Amino acid sequence: MSEPVVRPKRVILKISGEGFCNAKARGIQMDAVVHIAEQTAAAAKSGTQMAIVLGGGNILRGAQFTSGATHIHESTAHYMGMIATVMNGLALQDALESLGQETRVMTAIKMDGVAEAYIRRRALRHLDKGRIIILVAGTGSPFVTTDTAAAQRALELDADILLKATRVDGVFTADPEKDPNAKLYDRLTYAEVRQQNLRVMDQEAISKCMEYAMPIRVFNFKVDGNIERAVAGEDVGTLITK
Ligand code: UDP
Repeated sequence: MSEPVVRPKRVILKISGEGFCNAKARGIQMDAVVHIAEQTAAAAKSGTQMAIVLGGGNILRGAQFTSGATHIHESTAHYMGMIATVMNGLALQDALESLGQETRVMTAIKMDGVAEAYIRRRALRHLDKGRIIILVAGTGSPFVTTDTAAAQRALELDADILLKATRVDGVFTADPEKDPNAKLYDRLTYAEVRQQNLRVMDQEAISKCMEYAMPIRVFNFKVDGNIERAVAGEDVGTLITK
């Protein structure tokens, strides 16, 4: 008998920068942003509280500047990456609000006049009022990624699950975009992810989730309805638990 579906009360949805542009493109393309907005607005109608952590890889990743061949210090590049996530956040905010969904953008790097500062208790208040909060600028510190920010926010905001939206169907035995024989896992443990070196989220994010038993679901957000399904607690993609 299949397990009953338990609707989470509060979720963190991590969307990478790749969600903001079409395949093989870079930057922000509004049709891609509107797609995310439509899917997340529909999911929020269910009553589950949603905090969205955004990536910025469609614009810039700090690690591109590691070689020492540029005049930009790597930490500067990481700050540029964090600012990229703010741009995505502003685009998503307007797209969501144009659909009638109330939102707040909250930034980990103070940016008065652009967005509110991230303050945990204020974030919880917005969620209680039914607003989608869009969390940008990652953790506010360089040398980590927005996956780590998502794990961090999931823990501090007492989310029931961290939903990692990707452009593939979940976690596979190998990269499904390169290996046609790659098999999709339904379920995994944190230990299996680490032992098999499966590319789910960065190590720091997995470790944090493992330490505090925060479930992670990896799923394909390009499929219409999948964000709604994942937010509803349905069995889509790969579920990672202890
Ligand atoms: N970043 C950072 N600290 C953080 C989050 C992000 O320095 O807490 C920088 C980092 O350089 C990262 C970039 O911002 O590469 C964009 O974020 P990320 O690569 O996670 O975006 P995604 O791959 O999810 O689109």
